[in-house]
Amino acid sequence: MIPKLDYFAPTTLGEALNLLSSISNSRILAGGTDVLTGFHQGSSRFKDVPALIDINRIEEITGIVETDDSLIIGAAANFTSIINNAAAVKYFPSFVAASATVGSVQIRNRATIGGNFVNNAPCADGVPSLLVYDAVIKISSSTATREMPLGEFLIRPYKTQLMPNEIVTHVILKKYPESYKGSFYKLGRRRGVAISRIALALLGEVKDNIITDIRVATGAITPIGKRVPEVEAFLLNKKVEDATLREAASVLGQHILDATGVRWSTPYKLPVAQHVCYSELSNLFSKEA
Ligand SMILES: Cc1cc2nc3c(=O)[nH]c(=O)nc-3n(C[C@H](O)[C@H](O)[C@H](O)COP(=O)(O)OP(=O)(O)OC[C@H]3O[C@@H](n4cnc5c(N)ncnc54)[C@H](O)[C@@H]3O)c2cc1C
Repeated sequence: MIPKLDYFAPTTLGEALNLLSSISNSRILAGGTDVLTGFHQGSSRFKDVPALIDINRIEEITGIVETDDSLIIGAAANFTSIINNAAAVKYFPSFVAASATVGSVQIRNRATIGGNFVNNAPCADGVPSLLVYDAVIKISSSTATREMPLGEFLIRPYKTQLMPNEIVTHVILKKYPESYKGSFYKLGRRRGVAISRIALALLGEVKDNIITDIRVATGAITPIGKRVPEVEAFLLNKKVEDATLREAASVLGQHILDATGVRWSTPYKLPVAQHVCYSELSNLFSKEA
């Protein structure tokens, strides 16, 4: 049930930040797709919230701006606006592909990218592809602004470095040369409106059949979306060969086991995750040929 609480809809960031710092335990409301379900489920994370501060009317954090070398996405941009943004499609296709897998059309019309990674569920589909693009986020309070890599911001499931008086305002993505290719794969229990059970994002570059850069990030199979440095280090500067890609998938399997231990789902998830890794790497590098 949604408790009785105050609701504010500021139109400037300054106003929102002042409200947030003056009302103790107040929360930001973006798309509300996690907040409202949290209330309905009686989640302890949304207990005793006296007020919601809706950020949807703040233009400076809902838009998407392309600059010469970057794409600056307002944290309150919803997934539909990301999918429909020409620069996002051109420069960050695997992030757009990931955005298109979130929920349904109705959910994507509400759900925001900022809400996705601030909530930091293990299955947050926006996270792995932002991690491979080395996304940096911008955070403001009424007294200061700071930037940090998304990977540092995410601590553990449903926990980030966000302070109670702060709002994430932007996601900054640096453009990569066209030689970089990316992919995003999501496996759920059904094809649509499904929570990820396994998610994998890749971004890589190959020159003369040598892997000159590779980024790998998981979602859902690890406690939170994370880069996998072991697989990246294993593949870097190697030739693109079938045996190498298979071995990289084994390295990923070991990483998952180290992160989660053996669970009831391991006999299914582990071989499937390894196969996904192998086949996504094969597809990615065949794009390079
Ligand atoms: C039916 C359904 C299907 C779904 N399917 C998927 C799916 O397939 N994949 C997936 O990843 N997720 C899915 N979700 C989860 C959800 O839609 C996403 O996590 C969404 O991106 C959350 O964004 P929001 O704008 O709705 O966040 P909200 O619910 O508004 O907020 C989430 C949390 O983030 C905080 N917050 C939001 N924005 C900011 C900000 N800018 N600064 C500081 N704090 C902020 C809020 O205070 C709250 O704690 C689904 C949800 C539903 C209900």
